[in-house]
Formats: sequence, C-alpha cells, structure tokens
Amino acid sequence: MTAEKKTKKLRVGVYGITGCAGCMLSLIFNEDELLDIAELVDIRAFPFIKEKKDERSFDVVLLEGTVVQPEDLELVEKLRKKTKILVALGACSSTGGVPSLRNFIDPEKYRHLVYHKASGIQDMPPKPVDEYVKVDYYLPGCPPDKKEIIRFLQDAALGKIPKMYPHPVCVECRLRENRCLLEEGKMCLGPITRGGCEAVCPTNNLECWGCRGPVDDANLTELIALLHKKGFDTDRIKARLETFAGLKIAQIEVGHKKWLEESH
Ligand code: SF4
Ligand code: SF4
Ligand code: SF4
Repeated sequence: MTAEKKTKKLRVGVYGITGCAGCMLSLIFNEDELLDIAELVDIRAFPFIKEKKDERSFDVVLLEGTVVQPEDLELVEKLRKKTKILVALGACSSTGGVPSLRNFIDPEKYRHLVYHKASGIQDMPPKPVDEYVKVDYYLPGCPPDKKEIIRFLQDAALGKIPKMYPHPVCVECRLRENRCLLEEGKMCLGPITRGGCEAVCPTNNLECWGCRGPVDDANLTELIALLHKKGFDTDRIKARLETFAGLKIAQIEVGHKKWLEESH
C-alpha cells in the first residue's frame, strides 16, 4: 500500500430508507468508538450528524431499511451507482426484517387499518435491498451490533472486507455455557440463525428470534421437526420464522417458501 493510500480516509455515507432509524442510531450511540476511528473514516453523509453533505461518491455506504415504496428503490439504485461497497445495515435491509412480515399476511386483514387514511400511497411488497441491487456486505441484526459496525469500518479502511461470522448462534451460546432454551421447551431459533451477536439473547435467558437471518447451511427441516416434537404447532413456528427473516428463510428451499406462504 502506498503512503498516499494509507492516509486516504474511507469515504462513508449512512442512509436510511423505510425503517425505524434504530440501526443508524446504533452508530451514533457508538460515539467514543467512532471518534477512535476518525483518522480512518470520513463520514460524508449522515442524516443526524452532518449538515453539509458531500454525496458525490462513496467507498462505503451503510444502508438501513426495507424497500417498500418507489422512493426507497430510487435511492437504493442511486446509491449503488456511486458506491464501491454497499452494506445492508440491520435486519430490515439484510433480510427484509419486520416490515417484510407483510408479505405473509393477507392484505385484506390490514387494508382497513391503513389505506383509507392514505389514498394515493404507492405501495410495493416489502423486500430487502439485495432483491434489487448487489449488496457487498451485511451487518445484520435488529439493531446491528455496534462493535461489529466499527470493526467493519476499521477493516474496510485498511482495504479488507471481513468474513461474516459463519456459525449459528448456538456455537457462541455453547461457548458461554448457557443452558439450552430449546432443551427447556422454549422456541429458540439459534440453530438456524447466523451468530456474531455473542448469543446475547440466550445469554440473557431470552429466545433467539433470528434477527440476524439464516446461517448459510441452516438445517431448517431438522429445526421444524424438532419444534414440532417439542409441541409447537405449525402456525406458531411459521410466525416465529417469519418475524425477522421470512423472505430469506423462504429461499432456503422451495418447499419452505410454499409452506411459509400458505395463509395462516
Ligand atoms: S433492523 Fe431493527 S433497528 Fe434497524 S431499522 Fe429495522 S427495525 Fe429498526
Ligand atoms: S439456547 Fe438457543 S442458541 Fe443457545 S444452544 Fe440452545 S438453541 Fe442454541
Ligand atoms: S440471539 Fe438471535 S435474536 Fe438475539 S441478537 Fe442474536 S441473532 Fe438476534
């Protein structure tokens, strides 16, 4: 690496489409760590902390939210064109997150709650960003892990793209010697969910709801069979699987797509 490259800061943009802003706030609440990497990173666009933006081009864009309307898609496509490394920030962006639950619900069940108040709304089926453009990296979770965001920025500034944590939540959970909630008859999605969150939920005696999306080699069939054996009915299992990552889980096998999409 040349001396010139070493001193060149990573040009970063942080953007949100339809989401709750929680992912972007995760970054702000990391103020001390952000200051630690100030020598490496130049945040050129950020909805909350930068008044004067420079949005011409970026090395990295961290993008929060789900694509649910044409304006979202327009911004996603615009950012893709001027960004070297487009990062899906959080569950909404990576897997479709909670907004994507709507894909599994009959519109007639919620139409009366929303649409009479918003005539003319341009609605699209909620989808994660990679349904429309190439995503180069994922920082999953609802919200994503603050330390993971900082580590990613540090690595990217040094010209490295880190590998995503390859194992399920169970691996980190077992390393912490937690009691297994599944064995206690609770519905934990740890076996099929990508770890990297330090198994924060089961470590605090809470079930994993799968907010980081499915791990690459998720054995969904085995987990569903186990949950049935534990006495959970199909509707309850579906509802849990759909909460954060239904669209990604549906992609694991065509059979599961059909299974998930059958109305409750
Ligand atoms: S992933 Fe969670 S914290 Fe981030 S925008 Fe979606 S709902 Fe909010
Ligand atoms: S509690 Fe959940 S994450 Fe932990 S080992 Fe059991 S199934 Fe896996
Ligand atoms: S344990 Fe599961 S639900 Fe909790 S943060 Fe990790 S992936 Fe998300």
